[in-house]
Amino acid sequence: MFINGQWIQAKDQKEFSVLNPANGNVISRVPDGGEIEAGMAVTAAGEALPIWSSQTAYQRSAFLYEVHTLMMGNLEHLAQTMTQEQGKPIQAARNEVKYGADFFLWFAEEAKRIYGRTIPSSRGDQRFLVAKQPVGVVAAITPWNYPISMIARKVAPALAAGCTLVLKPAEATPLCAVEIFKLLERAGLPKGVANLVTALDPAPVGQVFMTDKRIAKLTFTGSTKIGKLLARGAIVQMKRVSLELGGHAPFIVCKDADPVHAAKGLSLVKFLNTGQACISPNRIYVHSTMKALFLKELKEKVVQMIPGNGMTPGVKIGPLVNAAAIEKVDNQVKDALHHGASLVIGGFRIMDKGLDKGYFYAPTILDHVIPKMRIYREETFGPVVPVISYEDEDDLLKMANDTDYGLAAYVYTKAYSTAMKFFEGLNFGIIGINDINPTSAAAPFGGMKMSGIGREGSFEGIEEYLETKLGGFSLNA
Ligand code: NAP
Repeated sequence: MFINGQWIQAKDQKEFSVLNPANGNVISRVPDGGEIEAGMAVTAAGEALPIWSSQTAYQRSAFLYEVHTLMMGNLEHLAQTMTQEQGKPIQAARNEVKYGADFFLWFAEEAKRIYGRTIPSSRGDQRFLVAKQPVGVVAAITPWNYPISMIARKVAPALAAGCTLVLKPAEATPLCAVEIFKLLERAGLPKGVANLVTALDPAPVGQVFMTDKRIAKLTFTGSTKIGKLLARGAIVQMKRVSLELGGHAPFIVCKDADPVHAAKGLSLVKFLNTGQACISPNRIYVHSTMKALFLKELKEKVVQMIPGNGMTPGVKIGPLVNAAAIEKVDNQVKDALHHGASLVIGGFRIMDKGLDKGYFYAPTILDHVIPKMRIYREETFGPVVPVISYEDEDDLLKMANDTDYGLAAYVYTKAYSTAMKFFEGLNFGIIGINDINPTSAAAPFGGMKMSGIGREGSFEGIEEYLETKLGGFSLNA
């Protein structure tokens, strides 16, 4: 753990193992922190706050530029660490490191653009001044599926804004966090400005994050269930909260779309990170007249996807994160089949080709999916494509919006008016129109409804770490 500028063990010397999900091997052991270490980290962040927040925007910006440079210079090492502890194919890990580094670059610039404003008053002797100030000490919790970019999306804007922070990464992927903190240290991070607490049991650390009065803001990426729990706890002290939660993205192939192009797009976005992405398509609506061609194209793509250890060249499908993930996916598939879905391909855990020690699930396509199946409503987080055919495009908007989630949605159409109808009508924070990658450090990422509160990236991303302060100045002193 990295607390107050020092690499430390847990007070009681406890550690936990980090496993490679491709083969179950122990890669490393990390300190198992808890309430005590979280408290120490909050103290360090609190003491560092006046120093860091009084640095000039240019000084903070220079630091963030340096982190970006170091991340790019250590890209291969970071990517390999990620593939080993998280499982995604090495090329995808490299892409994620670049995406993560982009947030440091973007917020190195945004640090210099934290503007206030003046407002005309109706009184001649009065002036209004609006200033932006850092919220204070930030507590951050991140998931395992994107173990570097999810950290970068919080650490870069928090530090740019002048906040100090404590991070608790996911239990499955602490090594990526450790590597990022080594780079923060090398970039010249003043002591206490960013602190890292690793923990096997997240609850005691979460308890400190919710209840310690010195923490002004809680930022969380993870499941809706835990997000709600943390938000409920944090609101007692009116802490600022940002939540990036789960999703259940519709992927709509309109009647006028090219089914071959759409199937290619779906195969690329759905199987990214083996389906373990919050913006992964979970309900695929295809017009009945083009479904046969769409499924044929998709199946051809799926057949070519090689599962295996992400370090092996050519591998496209990495493992799921753990045994529970396999069970969840398999249960959803079984439930769908029980309720009348048909299996186009896949539908089983891969136990041959030496993959039995890892958590591999075959890329799966389900046809004839209907609303009463669990997979129609629950986040899958696995390599399963549930296909739903439709007849009438007028019903689509209603069907696509019929979910508690509101993170990402995708639409394939050639008609500009149809594209605009869906862009305006879909209740989701991110809409890809004939586009499967609507993400960038420059673009606001986040969800509506149960998918969360707030945005990461773009200028909205730094606003999440700023308070607005109004000054009313009377000239009659
Ligand atoms: P999770 O179980 O909610 O865990 C996320 C983080 O919260 C982990 O660090 C976890 O620690 C921690 N945590 C769990 N219980 C806690 C508690 N009681 N107090 C404090 N911290 C606690 O989610 P996950 O399975 O890791 O991640 C997958 C979820 O994240 C999916 O729902 C996905 O959609 C969502 N996600 C959303 C976005 C987005 O931007 N909207 C991006 C990526 C992922 P442990 O690891 O130790 O359990």
